Amino acid sequence: HHIVEVRDLCHCYPDGTEALRGISFRIHHGESVAVVGANGAGKSTLLLHLNGYLAPTRGDVRVGDTPVVRTTLPEVRRTVGMVFQDPDDQLFMPTVFDDVAFGPLNLGLPPAEVERRVTDALERVGVAHLRDKPPYRLSGGEKRRVAIATVLSMSPDILVLDEPTTGLDPYARRQLMGLLRDFSHTKIITSHDLDMVMDLCERTIVLRGGKVAADGPTREIFGNDE
Ligand code: ADP
Ligand code: ADP
Repeated sequence: HHIVEVRDLCHCYPDGTEALRGISFRIHHGESVAVVGANGAGKSTLLLHLNGYLAPTRGDVRVGDTPVVRTTLPEVRRTVGMVFQDPDDQLFMPTVFDDVAFGPLNLGLPPAEVERRVTDALERVGVAHLRDKPPYRLSGGEKRRVAIATVLSMSPDILVLDEPTTGLDPYARRQLMGLLRDFSHTKIITSHDLDMVMDLCERTIVLRGGKVAADGPTREIFGNDE
């Protein structure tokens, strides 16, 4: 059964830019899907619809059997963990610990469980040593990993990442790829990092000018006959 369904999604920004022009696809439980395309193709706009940061101009988005609309946002955002392109959009608390604990605390989890989730999320992205630091002091790559931890601590069913390897050094990038490979739930990733896409995503959706230009097995999309 599919866990994400996007039907005829159109998005027009207030200045008149038609960023999405009739996008449709379904994603199955456990699928790992890359969304690729040139700058301006509509990738970020599409992702922002998956947990209701933008509302469709036309069409609709469903997560599980739930339509993504204003009244369902709390439920949708527990299911869909979104890692934004810019980590500064995700980090706003005085310390790394507070940022990663924010979601679990909001769920009303007991302190010991919050502690366990924060520790686990920070260890998985390799930044346990940064837990008491203020996020604004961190490097770009460290911030990105903490931003991912803030989402992992929510145990989402669907992980959505916008350009997750941006600013990571080769070691951090490899560690992130290992982490994403181990994340067995559904993943949706936008990236210009074709090696990562080939490695992690069995399926690729290509956007061009706000439309789906191709959708299929990654190896076919990139014409890799190895
Ligand atoms: P991508 O992530 O593939 O680079 P975006 O979704 O960021 O593409 O952008 C798709 C189109 O929408 C582009 O033409 C971009 O300039 C435009 N766009 C993005 N954000 C806004 C905005 N807030 N207001 C107006 N136009 C926007
Ligand atoms: P269902 O049985 O729920 O109707 P389908 O197996 O028909 O689902 O697939 C739903 C949609 O998802 C189809 O449009 C199909 O093209 C797309 N899809 C699913 N998996 C892949 C994949 N690996 N590559 C390309 N498209 C896929």
